[in-house]
Parts: sequence; C-alpha cells; structure tokens
Amino acid sequence: MTNYFSSNFKLGILGGGQLGKMMLYETRKYDICTYVLDPSPEAPCRIACDHFQQGDLMDYETVYKFGKKVDVLTLEIEAVNIDALIQLEKEGKKVYPGSKTLKKIQNKGQQKKFYKEQGIPTAKFIQYSNKAHLAEGITSNKVKLPFVWKSTQGGYDGKGVSIIRSGADIAKLPDTECIAEELVDFKNELAVIVVRSPKNEIKTYPVVEMEFHPEANQVEYVICPARIDKKIAESAREIAENVSKAFEHVGILAVEMFQTKDDTIIVNEVAPRPHNSGHYSIEASYTNQFEQHIRAILDLPLGSTKSKLGGIMVNLVGEEGYSGNVIYKNIDTVMKMEGVTPHIYGKKQTYPFRKMGHVTIVNEDISKAREIAEKVKKILKVISI
Ligand code: ADP
Repeated sequence: MTNYFSSNFKLGILGGGQLGKMMLYETRKYDICTYVLDPSPEAPCRIACDHFQQGDLMDYETVYKFGKKVDVLTLEIEAVNIDALIQLEKEGKKVYPGSKTLKKIQNKGQQKKFYKEQGIPTAKFIQYSNKAHLAEGITSNKVKLPFVWKSTQGGYDGKGVSIIRSGADIAKLPDTECIAEELVDFKNELAVIVVRSPKNEIKTYPVVEMEFHPEANQVEYVICPARIDKKIAESAREIAENVSKAFEHVGILAVEMFQTKDDTIIVNEVAPRPHNSGHYSIEASYTNQFEQHIRAILDLPLGSTKSKLGGIMVNLVGEEGYSGNVIYKNIDTVMKMEGVTPHIYGKKQTYPFRKMGHVTIVNEDISKAREIAEKVKKILKVISI
C-alpha cells in the first residue's frame, strides 16, 4: 500500500469551494498533502490546502499541468476539462472519478440515455439539439405539456431546469441542446450517497429526504433517515448501488431520486462527488461523506455508513435584499442549542440565495431534530453589514 500519511504523496483536487474545504478537514485529519486548483483567488479551500493554484478548470493546459504534479487527482465540481483527464489517465495518472464516468454524467442527455441502456428506472425523455428542434417535437405532439425542460449542459441547482406549462414558458427558454422530460408526480425527493472504491468495495448511506419549502420550491431540510417505509428505503439503496456500479464510479456518488405517488423509485440525476444531501454525515454518521470519499479514491478500507444519531441539515443561503460583506445574524443564539453545529464556508460576500454555509442538527429523535431545525431556520439569518 502506498504510504499516504505524513509522506510525499500528493492529492490533487479540482475545485476549491465548500465541498473541497470540507474534504480538506479530512486530509488534515490524516495528514495527507493536498494541491487545489480553482479560478477564484478567494476560494474557500485556499487557506486549508497545502498548495493552492489559481486557474481555469475548463482549460486543457491548466488542468493537465496541475494533474501532472500530483499522484491521485479528484474533484469537487464536475465542470472540468475532461480531455485533460483523458490524457492524464493515458499517462497512467489515477483520476477518480474517471473521465469515462464523468463524460456520461456531464451531459444530462447522455446521463439519461445511459440509465435507459442500463435498465435503471428514470422518467421518460426525448433529447433535442436546439429550441427549433424542440418546437417541432411539441407541434408534432411527441412532447405534451406540461413537461420538464432541462439544458443538457451547464445547469446546476435548478438553473438549467424549467417546468413548461404554456407557450409563454416555451418562448422564455434559451436556445440550447436540451431534454424534454415527463413531469413526475412525486410525493418525495430522496437521495442516497454511495461510496465505491477501485477494488469494488461498495456501501450506501441511509436514504435522506429533501423537504421543500411549500412556496419557494427550495430544499429547506435534508432529513436522515428519510421518514419513509423500510421496504422503499431498501429499494432506493439498492437502485443507488446499481447506479454506482453501472457507472463504475469511484468515490462518492450522490443519487437523487423521486418516490412517486404509487411508491415507485425512479432516478432523477447523480452528482459524482460529495453532495449537499450528505452534509449531515459530518455530525451524524460514523464516517462522514468527505472522509469516505478520501478513503475510496485512495483504495483504503471504507468506513461505516451507519448513523450515530438522527441528522437534519439546513442550508444557510443569503437573505433576499442583502448583498455585500456577510454577517451571520443570531449565530450565537443557535450555538447555545444542543446538537446544533453551524458550518461557515468562507465566502466573504453574500447575495440573495448564495450558499454561504449550512447547519446540522443531531438528535436521537428525528421529530425533535425537525422542530429544532425549524427554530434554527427562523433565528439564523445571512445578511450583510
Ligand atoms: P439540478 O441539476 O439543477 O439540480 P434537477 O434535475 O435535480 O436539476 O432538477 C431540479 C429540481 O426540479 C428537482 O429537485 C425537482 O424538484 C424538479 N424536477 C426535476 N425533474 C423533474 C421531473 N421530471 N418531474 C418533476 N419535477 C422535476
């Protein structure tokens, strides 16, 4: 086994945001030397890694040269130059997740096509090369309103997704390659974090439930374990495990799913990295998702995915009406509450809906945790000076 600990071994991370920063808590714990590449000189990872480099993640030369400097390369954002990863792999560099997996995931059309080929349950869809092509599909009745429009590339956090109910909605769409997906009448949005190592050791975390704000359509709480039937939870974990195996994914894979009104589980999409839906694991699990990711990509034994306690995560996003130097109003009040841990990502400037941090609430009783989470959400506000 390679000596990763207190050694000359170098781990490279593409992307220096909050996910990378939380990964670095774990590399610090194990004294693993890290290199981070990010376009922003103020990236949250800058102060937590051993070597920081400012550079464009989509630029071939930058990513290739960065990769040459390290022994194992991983990422915390999937929008990276894949051709550079392909070349690095050709030269024998270990890149996890691998370029083949990333290529299938980066484009939503290809991702969906892959599910279909692999027999993984997912909502019906048709891919269109541009807006005119989509319009033809609507005129010829291949696509019926309402449907869900998704840009095949570049969208995240719901930005490349629109529910189309009328001609006026269609008119507002950008002219890009897209998929038209069946609108799923779901009762729950669920997620399962899967971890897989190169030697094919594989584990799943308990199913989490995303509770949405009734009006704002924003995820308010991530709840672990999901308050669903045991059988449905088992089936969700099994499907998620199959997805990771099908992609031959190495590292953390977050599998987002819908539980339909008739209790069928279908896969929505995946994220090939630690994910917002697994943040609860820092306080609530035996081994959190970031440590688990490091263990997996270094082909070390995986840790337990069991929970010590029930966990709920609340995202801390910038309040509407505030832009500028951030202040976490009433943070002292929530810090007095038992089992409540705020995480601050390290972004100096807030603006409406920017992800600035999160708070985890742990409790033996998940309904009690849910009550505390609601209090935290009401009390703690991300505003500016
Ligand atoms: P993103 O990559 O931006 O997270 P998603 O595919 O997860 O995009 O879509 C964002 C949200 O849109 C989902 O969390 C879900 O609430 C809703 N959504 C996505 N696809 C569908 C669908 N087929 N039917 C109903 N709602 C959907």
